[in-house]
Amino acid sequence: METVAITLDGVPVSGRQGMTILELAQEVGLKIPTLCHDPCLKPFGACRVCLVEDEATQRLVAACVTPISSGMKIRTNSDAVVKARKVILKLMLANHPESCLVCDKGNRCELRKLSAELGIGLVDYDRMPSQIKSIQEANPFVLRDMSKCILCGKCIRADQELVVVGALDYLHRGFSSRPATFLDNPLERSECTFCGTCVAICPTGALAEKGRVHPGTVSHKVATTCSYCGCGCSVWVHVRENRLVEVSPKKEGSVNRATLCVRGHYGGDYLHHKERLLRPQIRKDGEMVPVSWKEALEEVAGKLLDIAALYGPTSIGFFGSIQCTNEENYLFQKLARMGLATPNIDNGARFGPISGILAMEEELGVTGSTSSLDELEFAKAILVVGAQPSESHPVASYAIKRAVKQRGASLIYMGLLRDPLSQMAKAWIRPYPGTEGRVIVALWKLVSGKKKTAGEKWLEELHVGALLQGSMVDEHALEEAASILSSTRQCALVYGRGLYGNGGGKESVRALLGLAKELGCIGLAGGGIYPLDRGANTQGACDMGTLAEFLPGYRPAWDPDARRLIGRIWGKEPPPGPGMTLAQMIEAASTGQLKALYVMGEDLLGNLPKIAREALSHLEFLVVQEIFPTSTTGIAHVVLPAAGFLEKDGTYTSLERRIQRIRAACSPPGGAKPDCWIISALLNRIGQVPHYDSAADVMGEIRQVIPEMGGVSYSGMELQGIFWPCLGGKETGEEVPLPGLAFGDKIIGPIDLSMMTLPVSSENAFPQVAVLGDSLFSWGSGVRSGRASKLWAYNGSAKALVNPSLLKELGLKEGDPIRLVSKEGQLVVKAVERRELPHSVVWLIPGARGSEFSTLLEWGWDRGSFQLWGSCARVKVERPDQ
Ligand code: SF4
Repeated sequence: METVAITLDGVPVSGRQGMTILELAQEVGLKIPTLCHDPCLKPFGACRVCLVEDEATQRLVAACVTPISSGMKIRTNSDAVVKARKVILKLMLANHPESCLVCDKGNRCELRKLSAELGIGLVDYDRMPSQIKSIQEANPFVLRDMSKCILCGKCIRADQELVVVGALDYLHRGFSSRPATFLDNPLERSECTFCGTCVAICPTGALAEKGRVHPGTVSHKVATTCSYCGCGCSVWVHVRENRLVEVSPKKEGSVNRATLCVRGHYGGDYLHHKERLLRPQIRKDGEMVPVSWKEALEEVAGKLLDIAALYGPTSIGFFGSIQCTNEENYLFQKLARMGLATPNIDNGARFGPISGILAMEEELGVTGSTSSLDELEFAKAILVVGAQPSESHPVASYAIKRAVKQRGASLIYMGLLRDPLSQMAKAWIRPYPGTEGRVIVALWKLVSGKKKTAGEKWLEELHVGALLQGSMVDEHALEEAASILSSTRQCALVYGRGLYGNGGGKESVRALLGLAKELGCIGLAGGGIYPLDRGANTQGACDMGTLAEFLPGYRPAWDPDARRLIGRIWGKEPPPGPGMTLAQMIEAASTGQLKALYVMGEDLLGNLPKIAREALSHLEFLVVQEIFPTSTTGIAHVVLPAAGFLEKDGTYTSLERRIQRIRAACSPPGGAKPDCWIISALLNRIGQVPHYDSAADVMGEIRQVIPEMGGVSYSGMELQGIFWPCLGGKETGEEVPLPGLAFGDKIIGPIDLSMMTLPVSSENAFPQVAVLGDSLFSWGSGVRSGRASKLWAYNGSAKALVNPSLLKELGLKEGDPIRLVSKEGQLVVKAVERRELPHSVVWLIPGARGSEFSTLLEWGWDRGSFQLWGSCARVKVERPDQ
């Protein structure tokens, strides 16, 4: 690229063609003040505070929008520049309320800081009283005081350029001008998703977080990773007096840049909820009694060893967590395999994502996404199937929306419900719930026909019409989707619970991999597969081997060589596997074969149907390590209080396989302890393993056990985390060598269509299919989101979306309660009309508590992956007074 030489304050410097004066100044470490500029946004030139002087013309130009040109001589601090900046700031201050002492932005207000830097004290201009009235809003997240707005436009640009929602724009002109929603509605009646990006980016107190506990100065801020979904957003947590005060996006080197979503921004205060578990408890005479850590650990170690001695090690099971860190999951499986010699270990991925993990491991040799979320933005065609990223993985949805709106990508949205992505899709395909896998096979066949590749014989023999039977999908619409996908290799295939969570989830993901192979998009920047996992660390928990089938690093649990290798490091070989999966453990519990279960950080009963609850109640010994009381702690024999994500160190691995730090910012309440500490103490008692001093120590051992992670160190992930295995370059369309990728010429064998069925019987008594949807305001079984005060206040209760005709038949209307009855249970929820849903489909939107719908679930698992059912149920809809 051509270099351009200029002088800045008399010093010769050179930059690249197309750079602005501001960018070059920042690159060489010269500070030019700004208010409307943000590196994540396009230059705008609204505030003019960045004025600099061009020596040749003596003109003042805005540095943020003026490109450098050869021979330019720029003064950044001349008398004329300083004078002009002062005038601009004084004009802003003359129109700004003098309420700094009570303003929420306090010492963080950029207008006030800049004025102080330029020595502006009292403003000697006539004050211009604000024409703008305060805005009354009911939402619990954002406070708008537009009298403090300096019209920098950052909120509008963040909304339109980064989050691509379009809730804000300028309203009026002249003195009344300000950012506002359409028709000046309150935010809660606009498109706003309360992601808080505008609040974080606002330089003054015009936009602030509502109801902050401690306005003003915070004692310190800590860089960490959001603990909700697998996007792995980097955040700053601001802490005062051992309490979380505020969360803001960490822009540098992060996947999320200046954005977050409502959960990440406002959903962290659950950590301070009064229901936190504070002391270990043991059940004595039917009552839970608080005890010391020593007594609790001795009880757990002693009972597990006794049970192993009496009934054999395989009478014990372990269940790890997709919300806990890599280090915790690693130690947990070590406690199971080395400490107690049981191969029975599983984790929360068994509630769905396991289908994708097994399919990808088998067919690709790589689990997780094959490209980064940054690269998703450069895809030319994007297929989203069985997922609602706008609700479940918002930061991934921002990347998709930017690809479509700003780079012209063609989007194919495959999902029944209308949402922001369906509205911008070139093709919106609406498969009936449970038929997504068959539709993908049909799409694969159509693409194969268009590409005129020599397809597999079994695929050639299938008929698209037959595959689409019962799916409600029109063959012509699917043809259009096939044409879009076939037009480029830079295709990104994004999938979620609607694909992997139904019958034959693993086969459905295999079909998607077959389609990807046909498209040639894997191993190509700007293309690839993107699974949307359920937990903050689904990927990492599986990588660490809390799975019945795999040792750490996906070494098969049956493989003697793999066991020998680990045995050399541990000093004792893990037992032969595979062990029992959760589904098998539950059945074993019901027959009395499984005697003890140790659950870390998952509310099993909150996610399982009644039959499983009964089975677990037969256990002789149930240990639950948790941060809150749950339905599972309710039947436990020992409860161990654990630390939350802001109270411990470790790492998460995001859905794009980026390993990132989480850091302790507060100390745990009461006697709660980090999970690593608890498991290390038990390993010491049970397996005579010396205590691990820190999570970093555990990572040191992980590096030995998983040689592919040899380069992973805490210091190496300071800036932006480490991709594991490393992803290739960022140039779009480039072939990316992906370590471990075994796709090559491999043929994806026949897909077993017989597995792709709805999970439950289709009896006439239950004529509707209830589908579990996603909500921005709730997460998982709701143990955390249900205790996050603002998420709860805004979206506490669950609802059911139904076709208006169904309500009419029942003599009900929008907002009325309806009763959903399944074979297993029943539930009364509020009905909300959605015309796009078929009469026979009920779409369930969880409330902040999340697990309301588990009462409807039936027991069963997928034959291919032992994945438990969980996303669909057959129900009957009734009037509540029936
Ligand atoms: Fe957290 Fe996911 Fe939201 Fe990012 S997108 S802030 S990781 S919940």
